[in-house]
Amino acid sequence: MKSPREVADDLRAFERVAPRYMFHYNYICGACLEQQHTFIETKPGPTRREVSVIWPTNRPYACMLTFHRAAPGEEWDRLPNREFYINLDYLNALLTYLKGSGWEIVSIDQMIERLARSGKRRLVNFSIDDGYVDTFEHVIPLFRSFGVPVTLFITTGIPDETDLLGWAGLETIISERETLLTSMGKVDVSDLPAKRRWFTRIAASWGEQNFDQAYQDFCRINGADVPELRKRHAITWRMLESLKDDPLVEIGAHTISHARISSLPIPAALHELRDSAARLRQRLGVPCRHFAFPYGRMRDCGVRDFLLTREAGFVSAATTIRGLVKPGQDLFQLPRNNMNGAYQSLIYAKASLTGLSGVVAKVLRRG
Ligand SMILES: [Zn+2]
Repeated sequence: MKSPREVADDLRAFERVAPRYMFHYNYICGACLEQQHTFIETKPGPTRREVSVIWPTNRPYACMLTFHRAAPGEEWDRLPNREFYINLDYLNALLTYLKGSGWEIVSIDQMIERLARSGKRRLVNFSIDDGYVDTFEHVIPLFRSFGVPVTLFITTGIPDETDLLGWAGLETIISERETLLTSMGKVDVSDLPAKRRWFTRIAASWGEQNFDQAYQDFCRINGADVPELRKRHAITWRMLESLKDDPLVEIGAHTISHARISSLPIPAALHELRDSAARLRQRLGVPCRHFAFPYGRMRDCGVRDFLLTREAGFVSAATTIRGLVKPGQDLFQLPRNNMNGAYQSLIYAKASLTGLSGVVAKVLRRG
């Protein structure tokens, strides 16, 4: 059981994230499922909100964690866009912690089935979005070594070679060059701070609408090979075929083109939903019962879109709105907690596992 002091430490970690607020929690410790009443008074801020986190202690609950890419520790340190990656050393430590502290790591199918039963159960699901080669090379072997399941949400345009993976290509070009030609002129990217600075600046300058065209223009003036770069990052059908019969790998859909579903008219949205699942079933023969919304924040998927995922035949749909899954949760707006590369410490993971980070996100009005 967590001591009140440890609970207070968890809360103090979040005061540093949100120092302008005072928090008053009726707090149930997720590690022991015992109710703890804790009052933490921080420096007075401009706004004071009271938050209650209460759910029945004799019922199961689940925490869904998600990330996109993974890299070994020494490689992770040198990445221009490392916030997009989880450090594999950290993931290893987190899986060790979960297995040693009574958490049950489950697929989404198992999570839904277990939540319908009574009893104190603490469940955690890991899902990895999009479909990068490191998922196949690093993440699946790590989950296999722990003997625990993992869910992959695949954007079918990646193995179908229609998604250029411009973000990944830009990162590789910046990693491997000393100088670059950009619309802002020739720039020096010879050291890591410059690589990080220019990755963000160049990607932001391309904008969302014209990203692919801007990326191809950038590759042309820098003599970079778009298909070759894409191949270095994409998961392939051959890799996925080798996973389709693995009982520890659950495969769900994540659209065809990584489209923001809320921005599409209904026919186009249904096309992205239905046809990505159909493609996965056709290529892999897997049931493909679950879906994850690209981007997944409140502005990326709304009530209409939750209904469309049901209409498209899915059993569940996951967002990236933070929080915990409790009995009675609407399965078409499952909360997931993004494991951003910037916050890789067990205290942040524990905050997600206890629901604290979801509470803080709501207080701060973030998804
Ligand atoms: Zn995605």
